[in-house]
Amino acid sequence: MSTEWMADGKCREYPAATFFPQDGVGVIKAQRICAECPVATACLEYALDNHVDHGVWGGKSERERRRLQRARRRGTLTVRAN
Ligand code: SF4
Repeated sequence: MSTEWMADGKCREYPAATFFPQDGVGVIKAQRICAECPVATACLEYALDNHVDHGVWGGKSERERRRLQRARRRGTLTVRAN
Protein backbone atom coordinates (compact mmCIF):
# COMPACT_ATOMS: atom_id res chain seq x y z
CA MET A 1 0.00 0.00 0.00
CA SER A 2 1.21 3.47 -0.86
CA THR A 3 2.18 5.79 1.97
CA GLU A 4 2.09 9.03 -0.04
CA TRP A 5 -1.01 10.08 1.93
CA MET A 6 1.21 10.49 5.02
CA ALA A 7 2.60 13.73 3.61
CA ASP A 8 -0.85 15.27 3.93
CA GLY A 9 -1.56 14.04 7.45
CA LYS A 10 -2.67 16.65 9.95
CA CYS A 11 -0.44 14.95 12.53
CA ARG A 12 2.63 16.39 10.82
CA GLU A 13 1.79 19.63 12.63
CA TYR A 14 2.04 17.99 16.08
CA PRO A 15 4.58 16.02 18.11
CA ALA A 16 4.40 12.31 17.32
CA ALA A 17 3.72 11.55 20.99
CA THR A 18 0.31 13.22 20.59
CA PHE A 19 -0.82 10.17 18.64
CA PHE A 20 0.52 7.66 21.15
CA PRO A 21 -1.42 8.83 24.19
CA GLN A 22 -1.16 7.35 27.65
CA ASP A 23 -4.77 7.87 28.67
CA GLY A 24 -8.28 8.47 27.41
CA VAL A 25 -7.94 12.25 27.48
CA GLY A 26 -4.94 11.94 25.18
CA VAL A 27 -6.89 9.66 22.85
CA ILE A 28 -9.68 12.20 22.58
CA LYS A 29 -7.16 14.97 21.85
CA ALA A 30 -5.61 12.93 19.04
CA GLN A 31 -9.01 11.97 17.66
CA ARG A 32 -10.02 15.63 17.45
CA ILE A 33 -6.99 16.30 15.29
CA CYS A 34 -7.68 13.25 13.14
CA ALA A 35 -11.25 14.45 12.65
CA GLU A 36 -9.85 17.41 10.69
CA CYS A 37 -7.42 15.31 8.67
CA PRO A 38 -7.95 14.98 4.91
CA VAL A 39 -6.32 11.55 4.73
CA ALA A 40 -7.99 9.89 7.71
CA THR A 41 -9.59 7.07 5.72
CA ALA A 42 -6.30 6.13 4.04
CA CYS A 43 -4.61 6.30 7.45
CA LEU A 44 -7.14 3.98 9.02
CA GLU A 45 -6.94 1.53 6.13
CA TYR A 46 -3.15 1.52 6.44
CA ALA A 47 -3.28 0.81 10.17
CA LEU A 48 -5.78 -2.01 9.69
CA ASP A 49 -3.95 -3.56 6.72
CA ASN A 50 -0.64 -3.47 8.58
CA HIS A 51 -2.01 -4.54 11.96
CA VAL A 52 -0.65 -1.44 13.67
CA ASP A 53 -1.30 -2.05 17.36
CA HIS A 54 -0.25 1.20 18.99
CA GLY A 55 -1.47 4.75 18.80
CA VAL A 56 -4.39 6.59 17.26
CA TRP A 57 -4.62 6.11 13.50
CA GLY A 58 -7.39 7.35 11.27
CA GLY A 59 -9.14 8.72 14.31
CA LYS A 60 -9.48 5.30 15.88
CA SER A 61 -8.02 4.17 19.17
CA GLU A 62 -6.23 0.86 19.63
CA ARG A 63 -9.40 -0.65 21.09
CA GLU A 64 -11.56 0.68 18.27
CA ARG A 65 -9.18 -0.77 15.66
CA ARG A 66 -9.25 -4.16 17.35
CA ARG A 67 -13.04 -4.04 17.07
CA LEU A 68 -12.77 -3.07 13.41
CA GLN A 69 -10.32 -5.91 12.79
CA ARG A 70 -12.80 -8.37 14.24
CA ALA A 71 -15.56 -6.93 12.03
CA ARG A 72 -13.24 -7.17 9.04
CA ARG A 73 -12.58 -10.83 9.76
CA ARG A 74 -16.34 -11.42 9.95
CA GLY A 75 -16.73 -9.59 6.63
CA THR A 76 -19.01 -6.92 8.12
CA LEU A 77 -16.65 -3.93 7.93
CA THR A 78 -16.82 -0.88 5.72
CA VAL A 79 -13.86 1.37 6.53
CA ARG A 80 -14.79 4.97 7.21
CA ALA A 81 -12.59 7.07 9.45
CA ASN A 82 -15.09 9.64 10.73
S1 SF4 B 1 -5.87 10.48 10.56
FE1 SF4 B 1 -4.75 11.20 12.37
S2 SF4 B 1 -2.97 9.86 12.56
FE2 SF4 B 1 -3.80 9.59 10.51
S3 SF4 B 1 -2.63 10.96 9.17
FE3 SF4 B 1 -4.45 12.06 9.86
S4 SF4 B 1 -3.88 13.17 11.71
FE4 SF4 B 1 -2.31 11.61 11.31
